[in-house]
Amino acid sequence: APGFPGVPGGHGGLEPPGEVITLQGAGKTYPGGLTALDNADLTIREGELVAIVGPSGSGKSTLLNLMGTLDRPSSGRVEVLGHDVATLSDRRLSAVRARWIGFVFQQFFLSPHLSALDNVATGLLYHGIGHSRRRERAAEALTRVGLGHRLDHKPHELSGGERQRTAIARAVVSRPRIVLADEPTGALDSTSGAAVVQLLRDLNAQGTTIAVITHDRQLADSLPRRVRILDGRIQEDDMAGTAA
Ligand code: ADP
Ligand code: MG
Repeated sequence: APGFPGVPGGHGGLEPPGEVITLQGAGKTYPGGLTALDNADLTIREGELVAIVGPSGSGKSTLLNLMGTLDRPSSGRVEVLGHDVATLSDRRLSAVRARWIGFVFQQFFLSPHLSALDNVATGLLYHGIGHSRRRERAAEALTRVGLGHRLDHKPHELSGGERQRTAIARAVVSRPRIVLADEPTGALDSTSGAAVVQLLRDLNAQGTTIAVITHDRQLADSLPRRVRILDGRIQEDDMAGTAA
């Protein structure tokens, strides 16, 4: 793991073989007392592509934030790539997150004043990679998502689908092991949404473990595994493993 002292490098960290994310009795109670996630058990293995589904307010984003080490559990255990999220220092948690996890959100969160290229290059900050090499890698990532002709465009000069593909390029330019997507197609028309889903499938086919929150029933049903949440409680879909 170049540039990240103290972070186990590559595959074969401390985790049991194949488990990249493990929740054991994990709970999240927000200040004010609302329990958004209750006693959750969930294991995600290397190479999985998992849909997380459930109504608004059911705890999907809370779950994703725990899986992505953006938040810590208030009870139970969350382990990401062999690291105990409850006890790891902020600094090491940030390092694990920056090196191994890519995030995609419904609202893209691109910097409005940066070109597509510079937005994507920010995904390599803190990786110990020089400026010009960052830009090369960013151009490669944008080309892979079909935006090699949009390098110098600002977000407002891109369509919604192009913005989300830029955000995906930023999420994966550092070659993370895990990509977590929170309603990545929620702000897109169905054609651009389908392109985004195809990108996620391609990434998964190349070995990236992916969890995607979606309200899109058709998308969820097309994925190999679905995890349902209702009122903060996780339930494995009955159809898990039986889809194509
Ligand atoms: P979903 O993504 O499924 O819509 P969330 O995980 O965002 O659900 O929210 C689950 C519940 O937790 C909701 O009732 C929400 O209002 C509450 N919640 C989410 N984030 C916070 C927070 N930072 N502080 C307090 N309550 C929160
Ligand atoms: Mg949400």
